[in-house]
Amino acid sequence: MSDNIQTVTVLSKTTWTPNLFSFTVSRPDSFKFTAGQFVRLGVNPSRLKYYQQQDEELAALDEDIFRAYSIVSSPFDEVLEFFSIVIPDGAFTSQLQHLEVGDELLLNTMPFGFLTLARYQKPLPKDLWLLATGTGLAPFLSMLQDLKTWNDYEHIVLAYSARSVEELAYIELIERLQADFGSLVDNPAKLIFIPIVTREPVDGALTERLPKLLLDGTLQERAGIALDVDSTHVMLCGNPEMVEDTKEALKTLGLVMNRRGEGNIAVENYW
Ligand SMILES: Cc1cc2nc3c(=O)[nH]c(=O)nc-3n(C[C@H](O)[C@H](O)[C@H](O)COP(=O)(O)OP(=O)(O)OC[C@H]3O[C@@H](n4cnc5c(N)ncnc54)[C@H](O)[C@@H]3O)c2cc1C
Repeated sequence: MSDNIQTVTVLSKTTWTPNLFSFTVSRPDSFKFTAGQFVRLGVNPSRLKYYQQQDEELAALDEDIFRAYSIVSSPFDEVLEFFSIVIPDGAFTSQLQHLEVGDELLLNTMPFGFLTLARYQKPLPKDLWLLATGTGLAPFLSMLQDLKTWNDYEHIVLAYSARSVEELAYIELIERLQADFGSLVDNPAKLIFIPIVTREPVDGALTERLPKLLLDGTLQERAGIALDVDSTHVMLCGNPEMVEDTKEALKTLGLVMNRRGEGNIAVENYW
């Protein structure tokens, strides 16, 4: 096993829907990361109780499968939290879905990724727009549990899109963020949360896809602020189709990709 790979233990599991769950694992002392980064997590059937009890053939396989996972928890938490989809025939998540407290996973302790607020040199921080579909919410929750984010911005708009209201996970945490983190700094950012549910009408939630909401101005109107090219940072994370179409919509509105520290838009695709 490479020097970077450590064994971590599952400490808790929360099931949101049959296809969405979160879990926490122990955090190796030496493991440091920046809010917004991802790691590679490894699963091996021989380390999961489910296979040890049910499926002798798989349990004997002893094969590590690794996938990229954004960290949900803040860089200051004692544990590491992750938010996962279940793809029924997916090599990784068809196994990961059976996680139980006490199981072991593998963690590559080299953090990756540039979807971090430190990448923005220009424009200076003022308004931060975080646009996510599904599990793409994960890196934004980490940023929103980091006091620096609350300190550095005036407004934070979190637009979080899912197909059904059940799939809008972490709503209680999102609703507590302003009180829990905003109250710890002077002049905290104002968090504006905009839920989007695309496949059923839900009170208080928008229903269209993000590119349309941006192009017709609905999202800006709901947020109560404009997308000013001189003062806006926008991050997109999740479904690649959403990321591509939303990026194009933002460019139509005059925003530009962030390159070498300058520009408004930063993106991360999950597949
Ligand atoms: C930088 C990065 C960070 C990531 N962070 C997360 C994370 O925090 N949580 C997470 O669940 N996944 C995340 N992923 C995706 C993850 O790495 C795996 O693709 C996912 O766990 C499915 O693995 P699999 O082997 O079961 O299926 P795969 O063979 O990897 O994927 C099969 C198909 O499932 C779909 N799919 C994959 N991931 C997702 C997803 N997250 N939501 C909806 N559909 C999906 C796509 O259509 C994909 O082609 C991330 C990917 C990248 C590149």
